Order: sequence, then structure tokens, then C-alpha cells
Amino acid sequence: MLRIGLTGGIGAGKSTVSKILAELGAVIVDADVIAREVVEPGSPGLAALVDAFGDAILSEDGSLDRPALASIAFADDTSRATLNAIVHPLVGARTMELISQAPADSILVQDIPLLVEGSMAPMFNLVVIVYVDAHERVRRLVELRGMPESDARARIAAQADDDQRRAVADVWLDNSGEPGAIDDAVRELWHTRLVPFEANLRSGTVANPRPKVVPADSAWPVQAERIVKRLAQACGDRAVRIDHVGSTAVSGLAARDVIDVQITVANLEVADDLAEALTSAGFPRVADVVSDAPKPSYLGGETDPAVWAKRTHGGADPLRPVDIDLRVDGWPGQQFALLLRDWLAADPDARAEYAEVGASASKAAAALDDDEARATYAATKAPWFDTAFHRAWEWAGQTGWTP
Ligand code: ADP
Repeated sequence: MLRIGLTGGIGAGKSTVSKILAELGAVIVDADVIAREVVEPGSPGLAALVDAFGDAILSEDGSLDRPALASIAFADDTSRATLNAIVHPLVGARTMELISQAPADSILVQDIPLLVEGSMAPMFNLVVIVYVDAHERVRRLVELRGMPESDARARIAAQADDDQRRAVADVWLDNSGEPGAIDDAVRELWHTRLVPFEANLRSGTVANPRPKVVPADSAWPVQAERIVKRLAQACGDRAVRIDHVGSTAVSGLAARDVIDVQITVANLEVADDLAEALTSAGFPRVADVVSDAPKPSYLGGETDPAVWAKRTHGGADPLRPVDIDLRVDGWPGQQFALLLRDWLAADPDARAEYAEVGASASKAAAALDDDEARATYAATKAPWFDTAFHRAWEWAGQTGWTP
């Protein structure tokens, strides 16, 4: 199952987008609908609210009088906490129930107005933001939904801002155009990303692009941060630390468009235990790299298989290739990944050399077929690491670097 978080400011067009996704075959779980459902007449949720806040929160027909509830429950922090303690667990339980009923091969879209405000982004395989600027949203809410302008402005002011949404957006859908103008973008998202992402997740396939070096992209650190947060959510306290490493972690360095992340664990048993959680988070294990074979001597001449052993995962999202290595805290491979990144960031000459090595490896691989290209790319870069390992550690000694 692929889990998509769909959000955006009020009036941006979430409902519009979720309708198109539903037509394409997504299973929609709408947080607003659930929030109403758990307090409908006769529900235990409504009974609990009446217990806490009294009959004054009921309309004459026995349904919840929302403005009355708001005036009582939002009056002070204790009342607000009481309200949340009643409603949140019910919404959570009903959401989980709906998710568990969805078929295993579903593309499940959770429409959650306050996804950003609730820091929920890392729980999803992918976060889709629907965007329209605040000025136009006010216009639509007033003209099309009949909302008083002061209400529309107050609601927008109480929500997250565009920068906070942008920080968690894997997909940014701009709905500023004419009605219907966004439909093609939603369909394209579905066919080129969501459908293959779900299929990859189910089959355990990861995106593995050809080894081609591209100019540095300022989006890499931001994308890496989102991936790290997702991984942290999946690993919990079983990860000692999670770091963006590799070439894309060195500012300004041309690199393969693959985000490298290292998850540091206490031992390889923990790494194996994490395989399932990482897969559901969107990062299946790469089976054929699960090997304890010694790494070639160029990596510092260290030949003890135990110290180079690692577990590898990749990204099932076809448009965001990721390489994830799980390594043991304090082992040479784990230390070197962190050291290499920091040394390259600190030493312009090393960085220039490394960029050149990457460029020639990319060139050497260009005309070859996929597998050969990968092997050639790696082999071309290998000798440089032989000296880099020692020079990096020399630098660490001189500067007092620690991971
Ligand atoms: P949300 O669910 O994010 O609060 P809606 O999908 O309800 O937002 O959209 C808000 C209003 O704007 C609705 O009345 C909707 O029909 C309208 N709307 C959606 N997309 C457009 C658009 N591209 N141009 C004009 N109005 C739009």
C-alpha cells in the first residue's frame, strides 16, 4: 500500500484534487469526514463531549452545535486539551480502521487539512501540497463558498504558511490557474509517479538510475532532510543517528542525482530488524547487496569483513532515487561516510579532484549498457578512494574532527 498525504491551505483545492485522484482509482481517507463522523448523533464521541462540556454544545435536533462547542472548548487551554483528548484518539482509530480495510495494492490518499500543523509529513510515503496564494484563496472562499471574508482571513492566518508547506512537499501542485487546469498535472502525477511507486513498493523494486553526474542541485539538501525525517519516523530509537552523506551532501559538488543516507545502528541485527519498517516507509531492501563479503582493499586497506558489513536499502519512488546504507556505530565504514562528507566540504582541492574523478567516471560509463555502466563508474572512482581514505583521516587528525 502506498500512503499519500494530501494537504494545502484552506480553499487551495484539496477536495478538487482528491476527487480527481479518486476517479483515477485512489482510496481516499478524508480527515474532515472522519472528524464529523466520530461525533455524529448517537456516537460515543458525541456522548463523551456532552459529558465533558454539557448539553449546551447540542443543537435542538441533538446534533453537535459546532460554534457552541468552539466557544466553550476553545476558551482556555484545559478545555482545548480535553476536546483534543476526546476527539483525536477517535479520529486516529477510525483512520486506522479505514486504512486496514483498503486492499493491499491501494494507493491510499489521506486528505488532511492540518497535516503540516500536526507534523505528520514523515508518516507518509509521499506528501502532495495543493498551492494557491492566500489572496486568491480568500477570493475563492468568499465568492465560491460564501465564507465571510474575515473568517477566511482568520482561518488562513491560523494555518501553516507556504514556506512550512514547501519544506515538506514532495509534490507541489499549483492550482492558481483556471478551473480544470490542474487536472492534467494530477493525472500525470498518478501515472508517472504514484502508480509505479506503489508497484515498486509491492515488488520491492528500487529506483536505480544510470550513473551520470549532473550539476549540483540546491534542492538536494531539502529533499534529503525530508528523507531523513521519514527514515527517523520509521526507525524510531533503533537508529543511533541518520545522516545525509555522499556527494549530494557536499554543497556545490556535481553528483549523481541520488541522495545517499546513512543510518547508524548499534549492530547488524538491528539493521535486519528494521528492514520491514523501512520498506513500508518507501525504502525496500536491496537484496543482492546484503552480503558480509569483504570490501576491496582500496577502502583503506581494511579487509576484515565484519567491519565493512552493511545493509542497503533504496527508494521505491521512481522520481527520487535514494541509497540508504545501514552501518554499525563506530565501524570504519560508518565513520568514513561521515568523514568523507566533512573533509570534502572543508577542502576545496579535494573537492575539485573528486569532482573530476566523478566526471571522468560518468564519461567512461556513458556509452555502456546499464549494468556495465555501473560497474565501470565504480571501478573508475575506486583508485581515488585509496588515497582519499588516508588523506581524510590525516585531515581529521589535524583538525580534531569527530563524527
Ligand atoms: P480545499 O478542499 O483545499 O479547502 P476546495 O477544493 O474546496 O479547497 O476549493 C475551494 C473552492 O475553490 C471551491 O469552491 C472550488 O470549487 C474552487 N476551485 C478549485 N479549483 C479552482 C480553480 N482552479 N479556479 C477557481 N476555483 C477553484
